[in-house]
Amino acid sequence: MPMPSRFSRLILYTALILIGAAIAGTWAWSQARQHALEQSVSRGPEQLNLYANSLHTVIERYRALPAVLALDPELIAALEQPVTPAGQAQLNRKLERINGAAQSSTLELLDSTGLAVAASNWNTSNSYVGHNYGFRPYFSQTRDQGTGSFYAVGVTSGIPGYFMSSAVRAADGRFLGAMVVKLEFPELEREWSQGNDTLLVTDKRGIVFIANQPGWRYRHLRELSDRDLSEITQTRQYDKQPLTLLPTHTLRSFADNSYLTRVDSPSGPSDYLWESQALNPEDWTLHLLRQPQLASEDSRNAALAAIGLWLALVFLALFLLQRWRLDRLRQRNREELEQLVQARTRDLRTAQDGLVQSAKLAALGQMSAALAHEINQPLTAQRMQLATLRLLLDHGRIDDAYKALAPLEQMLTRMAALTGHLKTYARQSPSGLRERLDLASVVDQALHLLEPRLNEDSIDLKVDLIRPAWVRGDAIRLEQVLINLLRNALDALRDKPCKHLEVRIKADQQLWYLTVSDSGGGMSDEHLGKVFDPFFTTKPVGEGLGLGLAVSYAIVHEIGGRLTACNHADGAQFTLTLPVAQES
Ligand code: ADP
Repeated sequence: MPMPSRFSRLILYTALILIGAAIAGTWAWSQARQHALEQSVSRGPEQLNLYANSLHTVIERYRALPAVLALDPELIAALEQPVTPAGQAQLNRKLERINGAAQSSTLELLDSTGLAVAASNWNTSNSYVGHNYGFRPYFSQTRDQGTGSFYAVGVTSGIPGYFMSSAVRAADGRFLGAMVVKLEFPELEREWSQGNDTLLVTDKRGIVFIANQPGWRYRHLRELSDRDLSEITQTRQYDKQPLTLLPTHTLRSFADNSYLTRVDSPSGPSDYLWESQALNPEDWTLHLLRQPQLASEDSRNAALAAIGLWLALVFLALFLLQRWRLDRLRQRNREELEQLVQARTRDLRTAQDGLVQSAKLAALGQMSAALAHEINQPLTAQRMQLATLRLLLDHGRIDDAYKALAPLEQMLTRMAALTGHLKTYARQSPSGLRERLDLASVVDQALHLLEPRLNEDSIDLKVDLIRPAWVRGDAIRLEQVLINLLRNALDALRDKPCKHLEVRIKADQQLWYLTVSDSGGGMSDEHLGKVFDPFFTTKPVGEGLGLGLAVSYAIVHEIGGRLTACNHADGAQFTLTLPVAQES
């Protein structure tokens, strides 16, 4: 599969970030809506209670009214005998007066057959007087149980209302008729219609008979059975009003009697928070339908906050990723650099080893040539001396032979000195080359060995040492170095009138500086550059081999130090520099 290009990767990441933002936004939005909905639901019962109470209060205010009126002796007396027109007119006016005082809708008096003998609306076109209401359930209830109640559309007036009735009885308890109060709720409906909510009251069959919005009344929430229909027809409860089903569909259920419901309402399909509460003892149900409060602004804010948070997280993650990548890159670069340095160091070391090797070989060649030259001369001379000696002995010239032995001996001594130097250089210290030792005591030892000569030559010696001056090296070879330096100084002072010799040890943080200075006149510039060369000497034949400084130089270098020469004041100064040895 081909690698996606940088550009298409960028598009992919951007798309992923945007999808993430959309998911976060949608999620937060729906969460906020959900929250708002639940909050709205929680306010439902309280509101329902308020509405239920207002209805309840209206009904309760009139509940006792028919019972109280049923005790009126005038009404009882009127029903005990056939009603005369004069009596009826008097009753009518009485009921009208009471109705006006009690502010009920209508008051009527029924006889034992259900015939309205008097009514407060006697002088209106909808007068109940003369109509028989024996078919109404509240009448039969009153006859059988003493009281009755029924919500119905007035067959005479066509105005719906709640009928509450109480039996009118003779002194012997005989049922004479019923006192009926009718309540209408136009004010309540008007009051309820102030808000945006829809309020419905249904009867036990689920038929809406009170509604604060037009178009909802006489809709039934459940299918009506044939029995229901026949009962409604018989009692003429809703008279000629057509009853139609209100289609509802429950979307969500929150708690008992609390739903999110889609309603095919008179104003079109709409979703409502639908909450209900039973109204007792009427056996009715109060329904509160509210538009779900979806708090769109809050939801939008929540969505924006979630998107903001998501983007902040994404950018934080990107920032951390970038930093991690940079760190990794730096780490890799460092490792590569280290590897490179190591490789170069290895190469250099190999090259250096090669150089040292070839320098060694060159030195070996030089040394061999010089040695051969140094040794050949005395060997040739000795061979000649030996031939001379043999001749002298042949001729019996013993004294002359003795004399001839002296130069021979001299030459042998010189050769011994030569090999002595070489042996010093070649020898290994038994405890290794790097023991920790005090440079000051090495100086003491060397001065001690040379003491006879110092005294003999009357040297003005000055010693200024730091003690202890710890260094790492081989005591015997370092002592050899010092003896060489001191001997050269003594040689230089031999014929001088003032013979100053000074040995000092100074220090800085890391190094010891041991100086040997004399007043022997120093070295010419020409010689200064050669004093450490093997076999360089300015001393007369038989006195100098030119190996002392060369060997000293090599020894000092081997233990990590330096040996330098310079002129100062009236003589030469040799400086031996050695690193300070830390305690191991
Ligand atoms: P040698 O002492 O056998 O000559 P060295 O290697 O010790 O060999 O010295 C080399 C030469 O350095 C000496 O011959 C001398 O010319 C010069 N030299 C060394 N030390 C001193 C000194 N303190 N003063 C002047 N010249 C010196």
